[in-house]
Amino acid sequence: MYLVGNWKMIGDRAYARRHMSAITLAVRAMPQDDRITVIHCPPAIWLTDLAAITQKSPVVLGAQDCHYEAKGAFTGDLSPYMLREAGCRYVIVGHSERRTMHHEGDTLIGRKARAAIEAGMQPILCVGESAQQRHDGRYLDIITQQLDHILSLIGERNTLLIAYEPMWAIGAGRTPHMEEIDEVCTIIRYHVKNRGILAPSVLYGGSVRGCNSSEILNLSSVDGVLVGLASTQLHEWTEIMKAAIDITYS
Ligand code: PEP
Repeated sequence: MYLVGNWKMIGDRAYARRHMSAITLAVRAMPQDDRITVIHCPPAIWLTDLAAITQKSPVVLGAQDCHYEAKGAFTGDLSPYMLREAGCRYVIVGHSERRTMHHEGDTLIGRKARAAIEAGMQPILCVGESAQQRHDGRYLDIITQQLDHILSLIGERNTLLIAYEPMWAIGAGRTPHMEEIDEVCTIIRYHVKNRGILAPSVLYGGSVRGCNSSEILNLSSVDGVLVGLASTQLHEWTEIMKAAIDITYS
């Protein structure tokens, strides 16, 4: 099971250090058998600092985005190789906030995912529909199109982390019904398996909180959660971890 925290653009250096130290302590107290993987994606500016805290701990660092080139004249961007060297083993690509606010499309996202893999990191590939697309009943077509486009650029592989993140649920405090999550996560798994990704991990993201995490993580189609805001609040994160532990070890 994967628990992924996306801190977005939240927190100063002191907060980041304090929060990561607390998370590391909590994760150290969990059973250490790899059945739950805890990944946190802080703002890139704090990565080097936080790598010192997560070093020799089970908490794994991830980045929130990367460029598709290894190096070059790309002002303000970060190469996947730089992120790898800063300690990241995972990188989120295709987050809806990048899609909407930075106009990122599936070609760019596919190139980023491939670059991340080439640099030795695992992409966490986000897909999901808008409120309008859900309302029109087009959501499954949209999601499978996103996947097909991106997968065509990644190349063959057996495993991939995919996060279903309906745009209308992110940061909205509005979670889909469990049947809605289950339907899409099941289709995603089936769809990518048919395209040769035989062991995908399908995560759900969008207003996951301590109070709904157990219900979501209990869905057999869900292999984990991608958590935004609640990953920056220790009590919420601790409750999500507790739900994951209860489900995994009960
Ligand atoms: C996210 O940023 O990926 C996310 C799911 O955010 P939130 O949990 O705040 O909705």
